Amino acid sequence: MPRQSLSQLETAHLKCRSWAHAWDYEVSYVERVGNSRILELHLHCERCDGYRIDTFDRPSQPRLISRKYVYPEGYVVVDLKRWGGRRHFNQSVQGELFSRFTPSKRKEKRAS
Ligand SMILES: [Zn+2]
Repeated sequence: MPRQSLSQLETAHLKCRSWAHAWDYEVSYVERVGNSRILELHLHCERCDGYRIDTFDRPSQPRLISRKYVYPEGYVVVDLKRWGGRRHFNQSVQGELFSRFTPSKRKEKRAS
C-alpha cells in the first residue's frame, strides 16, 4: 500500500497532473557566464504554486539549455512503483479528479 493515498492529494495538484500546469511569467534574470550571457526565466504555476526555471544560452536568440521544476509540498509522489507505475498512477489521478467533480448519486438531477 502506498504511504500516500489519492484522497490525500490536493485537487489543485490533481488538476495540474491531469491538465498541465497553469504557467505564468514571474521574473527573468540575465547573468554573465564567462564571455557570454545566459537568460533564466522563472514561471510560476498559478494553480499549484510550483515553479519552472528555464535557462537559455543567450538572451537574444534563446536556446533552451536546462529546465528545472520546483514543486510545492505534497505534490511529489514518493515511489511511483508502489502506485503501479506512472501510467497506472496517471489514470488513477484522473479517476480521482473526475470523482471529485462528479456529483454523488444522491445529488444527481433526475431526467424526466
Ligand atoms: Zn501546477
